[in-house]
Amino acid sequence: MLTRFSREKIYKAQKGRCFLCNKLLPPIKSICEPQDFPTLEHVWPKSKTGLHSWENIVLSHRKCNAQKANLFPSEEELIKLSILKNIPLNTLLPLIRVRKDFSGAASYAILLERINK
Ligand SMILES: [Zn+2]
Repeated sequence: MLTRFSREKIYKAQKGRCFLCNKLLPPIKSICEPQDFPTLEHVWPKSKTGLHSWENIVLSHRKCNAQKANLFPSEEELIKLSILKNIPLNTLLPLIRVRKDFSGAASYAILLERINK
């Protein structure tokens, strides 16, 4: 079951901080430098079977988002995400969509195994 989300809700949950660099984001709907603009970031990249869901989406500065590109999250980021979203780490869901090739799911399973050791 996916939770509905909005930029405002995510902003509040993150206490106005960028998920990636932890510095303050400009308030939503304020005018700011383009590189500071709060953007939706898929922690598990969408291009690698990540879901467009509350659980998988955080806010980050545009420049931080661009830097991360479509890399898999680090172990620290996954742990941080599980705390932020209150989702147990020992589950594959609800971050990713299992596709035929299972490559995203397999990478995630490997990461979880490392974290849970
Ligand atoms: Zn940032």
